[in-house]
Amino acid sequence: MPELPEVETVRRDLNRLLPGMVIGQVQGLFPGSVKGIGFKKFSETIQGAKIVKVSRRAKYLLILLDSGLTLIIHLKMTGVLQRQQKDDPLPRSARIIFYFEDGTRLVFSDQRKFGSIKLTSEPNELPEIKKLGTEPLESKFTPAVLQQRLAGRKGPVKTVLLDQTVLAGLGNIYVLEALHRAGIAPQRSTDTLKNDQIKKLHSAVTRTLKEAIAARGSSVDTYRDGQGKSGWFQVKHRVYDREGQSCKKCGHTIVKEMFRGRGTYWCPKCQR
Ligand SMILES: [Zn+2]
Repeated sequence: MPELPEVETVRRDLNRLLPGMVIGQVQGLFPGSVKGIGFKKFSETIQGAKIVKVSRRAKYLLILLDSGLTLIIHLKMTGVLQRQQKDDPLPRSARIIFYFEDGTRLVFSDQRKFGSIKLTSEPNELPEIKKLGTEPLESKFTPAVLQQRLAGRKGPVKTVLLDQTVLAGLGNIYVLEALHRAGIAPQRSTDTLKNDQIKKLHSAVTRTLKEAIAARGSSVDTYRDGQGKSGWFQVKHRVYDREGQSCKKCGHTIVKEMFRGRGTYWCPKCQR
């Protein structure tokens, strides 16, 4: 599932490629990807609108149109949003296609069909956006803020970090990678973390996300960037998908456990 670094990579690509483009015809190969409004109404409403900019909140992409409306796109498990040239082959799981006047197009493809596209004039008022926690790459995210967000939480630190109302944008991969860099076990109870560990965790979260964005994300399954290309952060993973391999920090074997229904990779020696 694309997490913050992947969605941010797509955002940067699209924010370079889309502003100024005028939406023409919209094709719904799977109209059900559009939520909250019928597909016909959706396509009629956005036809003729010009794209102003592409921004991001957590794992949501926000495409602002000059009509004041915003397209809010969540890629969920397998969604891919890419700009294509006229002669590029359409992805097999193309669901919604936005054609531009110059013949290029923006293609939303989604193998498993869990992704969603919504249209709204007030993105910040959508319940799913409103409830989101702190953005970990914004300057207001400090060790003190993390400490405050984790205060009073008794659950395992992995579960708390996955909670989008605490921190926004982290998923299974980056939570596990950050916990390894911080030397904290995923099962560790959040309320037992010491101040210096929270500081380490804060630095691990921001460092991991920044490195992953620099590597254009992790392509572990279907993820592609805004131009249809893979990322390469997976080669720098320290724990995720490395079961049985040796820890890059201490040499111990990385283990995988099912923890609350999700594959959890960690090093039992250097993560406490
Ligand atoms: Zn280790």
